[in-house]
Amino acid sequence: MPLKIYNTLTRTKEDFHPITPGHVGMYVCGPTVYSDVHLGNCRTFISFDIIYRYLLYSGYKVRYVRNITDAGHLEGDRDEGDDKFSKIARLQQLEPMEIVQKYTLGYHHVMNLLNNLPPSIEPTATGHIAEQIQMTQQILANGYAYEMDGTVYFDVEKYNTEQPYGILTNRKLEDLMEGTRELGGQDEKKGRLDFALWIKARPEHLMQWPSPWGMGFPGWHIECSAMSEKYLGKKFDIHGGGLDLAATHHTNEIAQSQACYHTSPAKFWMHTNMLTVNGTRMSKSLGNGFLPEELFSGNHPLLEKAYAPMVVRFFMLQTHYRSTLDFSNDALQASEKGLKKLWEAYETLGKMETGNEQPKGDAETDKKVLSLVASFEVSMDDDFNTAKVIASMFELVPVINSIRDGLIPAGSLSPSTIQLLQQKFKTYLEDVFGLKNSAATGTGTLNGVMQLLIDIRKKARAKKDFATSDTIRNQLTQLGIELKDEKDGGMSWSIG
Ligand code: AMP
Ligand code: ZN
Repeated sequence: MPLKIYNTLTRTKEDFHPITPGHVGMYVCGPTVYSDVHLGNCRTFISFDIIYRYLLYSGYKVRYVRNITDAGHLEGDRDEGDDKFSKIARLQQLEPMEIVQKYTLGYHHVMNLLNNLPPSIEPTATGHIAEQIQMTQQILANGYAYEMDGTVYFDVEKYNTEQPYGILTNRKLEDLMEGTRELGGQDEKKGRLDFALWIKARPEHLMQWPSPWGMGFPGWHIECSAMSEKYLGKKFDIHGGGLDLAATHHTNEIAQSQACYHTSPAKFWMHTNMLTVNGTRMSKSLGNGFLPEELFSGNHPLLEKAYAPMVVRFFMLQTHYRSTLDFSNDALQASEKGLKKLWEAYETLGKMETGNEQPKGDAETDKKVLSLVASFEVSMDDDFNTAKVIASMFELVPVINSIRDGLIPAGSLSPSTIQLLQQKFKTYLEDVFGLKNSAATGTGTLNGVMQLLIDIRKKARAKKDFATSDTIRNQLTQLGIELKDEKDGGMSWSIG
């Protein structure tokens, strides 16, 4: 069965055939590094990591490009004000590149903890200013942009006379107009939906570059168009990101590529749905974003305990990437239990004999197991349905445990079925889902031990037994582990 992918552009599941047989080009919009990535961002990056891993598993050679936005994000959506990097740099009295470095390192650290594979290329906006200027010049030359006092705007209405601007979200220009405010006397752009390709910088602006239009900096949307073209060509296979990017960022990317190269950049547009908290999208601007580190240490007033990175990853995989996923302690604790069950079953499987004996097998059980194992691929080929694969794994767990506990005879499964089970559990849990048994690698154990010590110390303090509480803290300090009392009464720990 061919791999089917839901394409936002056509609103259907289509058979996936890469433009160049065997080779896939995939571009995913990465983070804006003026602050820490939150768990919502991680959901998108985990989803595309699974897609990347499954494409590799399916035998494709993949060039996976995921950018870093380190310039050009303005405070408002009206192409005005300072860019956020400059603002934060000024507030913290740092070079903008110090901000970029700090949050890029933090982001990579989190990606590592979550066991996301690094992309093949990770280009930055500031490293590709020349390409963005060139593309802006070409769009101007082709007549789809205009300059106003050092700022270059994309002319959406003109473009829409030839190409449907709202094609990605299936909306007409008039409907899109309704959602925007009318232009006032001080606006320099001509159309309400026009967006900046290049922005004039005030002299005090910290990040600015020379351009044919004077000193300035690029708009946000042009960076992904310029960098995807540079590394994947004018037309490539998959372009992805969170669903929140479809209506503006990706819509504008399509317009820019059409206006510049007369082609829509990607064959498939893939969008992951949002991670929500109490039904509201987790976002930087709303301030409801859990930081991954808060989850891993349990240090947040809304968290009942710490959750290991692999539990968080597994929690994400239990829901299909196109459905919303609501964050809750209950759901995470259920994932923790579920993942433990799967690792136990995996370990049990590893100990099962496949020996030289003749295949016996109980036809009924054997058939059931084979069909569940075969469904792994069927589910992944159906738009990467990780949730269904995990459901099938959970159906296999009681069979594996029953054999372990002698409730059904060991010979119920033929040796070849056991071998297949062992191989598929390994491939799917470790290679495709990118899960690591944290209990075996020690991280889970350390988290558990630290939680235990923190609980004992809390109880000691409640009983005013400060000697015990101080001993715990001091001995941990000697081991290089620092305990920190938080304002909300909770406690966090860090090494070094
Ligand atoms: P940003 O740093 O805000 O540009 O976001 C980086 C990536 O995370 C983009 O692909 C966003 O679409 C995605 N993203 C942002 N918020 C969420 C969320 N709550 N759930 C899932 N993905 C998100
Ligand atoms: Zn982008």
